[in-house]
Amino acid sequence: MASPLPTVAIVGRPNVGKSTLMNRVLGRREAIVAEQPGVTRDRKEMPASWQGRDFTVVDTGGWLPQGAGDNASMDAKVSAQSEKSMEGADVVVMVVDSHAGITGDDEGVAGRLRGRAGPVLVAVNKVDDEAHEDLIWEFIRLGLGDPFPVSALHGRGVGDLLDAVMAVLPDEPAGATESEADAGMVSVSGQPGVDHPMVSVSIVGRPNAGKSTLFNRLIGDDRSVVHDQPGTTRDAIDTVVETELGPIRFVDTAGMRRRARIDQATEYYSLLRALAAVDRSDIALLVIDATVGVTHQDQRLVERIDGAGCPIVVLLNKWDLLDTEAREAIALDIDHRLHFLGEAAVLRVSALSGKGLNRLLPELRGVIAEYRRRIPTQAVNRVLRDAQAAHPAPDGARVLYATQGAADPPTFTLFANRTLPRTYLRYLERRLREAFDLGSVPVKLRVRRRSGE
Ligand code: GDP
Ligand code: GDP
Repeated sequence: MASPLPTVAIVGRPNVGKSTLMNRVLGRREAIVAEQPGVTRDRKEMPASWQGRDFTVVDTGGWLPQGAGDNASMDAKVSAQSEKSMEGADVVVMVVDSHAGITGDDEGVAGRLRGRAGPVLVAVNKVDDEAHEDLIWEFIRLGLGDPFPVSALHGRGVGDLLDAVMAVLPDEPAGATESEADAGMVSVSGQPGVDHPMVSVSIVGRPNAGKSTLFNRLIGDDRSVVHDQPGTTRDAIDTVVETELGPIRFVDTAGMRRRARIDQATEYYSLLRALAAVDRSDIALLVIDATVGVTHQDQRLVERIDGAGCPIVVLLNKWDLLDTEAREAIALDIDHRLHFLGEAAVLRVSALSGKGLNRLLPELRGVIAEYRRRIPTQAVNRVLRDAQAAHPAPDGARVLYATQGAADPPTFTLFANRTLPRTYLRYLERRLREAFDLGSVPVKLRVRRRSGE
């Protein structure tokens, strides 16, 4: 897939810390990091920036040489994806685990990479303190140049690694010619020539809320072409559905597909599963059983969705079963118990009959477009200057300069002379939200001290 930005692929065998590193580079969205080895994840592309340069990071999932691992067919699928992103990337960062030393799988990965034309950097992860820095020299044997010690978990050395990546990043992305970009995937945002990574949507909610019914209705249309894709864990299957907005990936649909129905035994399990799905998605659809109302679990889900920086669309399902009185009651319930949702859309639907669902795609279109907005640096700084003039931060604290680092969701990096109080950050966030009409999309602020402490 052609990308308008240069790409950096993060590769390595499972469990070396790729997703931790990816989150560190992105500076947001703590994904659930799995403890057991062999947990694979689908390929994910995310916008990032460093030293004012924008690029795309590609997480390739656990890359294993063909046939290795205890689930060869799943590994083969993931490996095929990983190889594709590796080949297309401008720079590859191979991650290894300093504690584990060089394993056979590492050698397999390195062997592939040595044949590559473009630059490859080796990040030796889990070097959590200086005492362990000597561990990196073993990895010279991989034949990929001097390794970089990093601790993805604590952030140690990641800046130096990114500096080195920037030094070898080409100015123009390799192979992303205009014609290729035009021939790319249908842009979900409707902006011609802008080829975004596919949007991921999770469908979450309590057991029995109607998620499967909803999902089957969404794919039930014969015109939608459905593909399965490996998801985070071995039993997670994502489904790509062709819609009028372009392809949309529905995350972790294993339990929702007609024939593949698995038993979502407990409420607790379903919550864990939903949280993992939310972490992998750009947008969450929260299905609430309107006959039950807003439960504690729904509230927890919403908090988590918000925390993951994921815009949300609420579906009040089983609307067909409610009488007028119940309809009024649930409206109040939503106001009281989900008030922190702000301006998120609430749709009244019946997944069973399909009533009300015609509003879902138009709603998604709006959310996706908002979510992907990029705001010019000058405009960001103008708004922050005005906001600070109207209401300065205490103790001489000041934002000196700011940029929008990422668009999905809008993430602003503020360079400040000292720590800014949380309440003040909320004030700035509100001003940015108002100025750029960001509606229900979560806005992330990152603060960096300019003194470099
Ligand atoms: P992936 O499979 O390569 O994406 O690996 P993960 O990012 O899921 O990390 C695997 C495990 O290593 C998790 O338990 C992480 O918490 C741990 N881990 C990742 N980075 C570091 C690090 O810098 N130091 C330490 N001590 N542990 C780390
Ligand atoms: P899930 O556990 O969230 O996937 O829920 P299901 O999709 O399996 O739905 C649970 C039950 O609710 C099933 O018996 C569905 O037929 C029923 N159901 C789902 N949506 C609706 C709806 O909009 N109206 C009515 N009356 N029943 C529904």
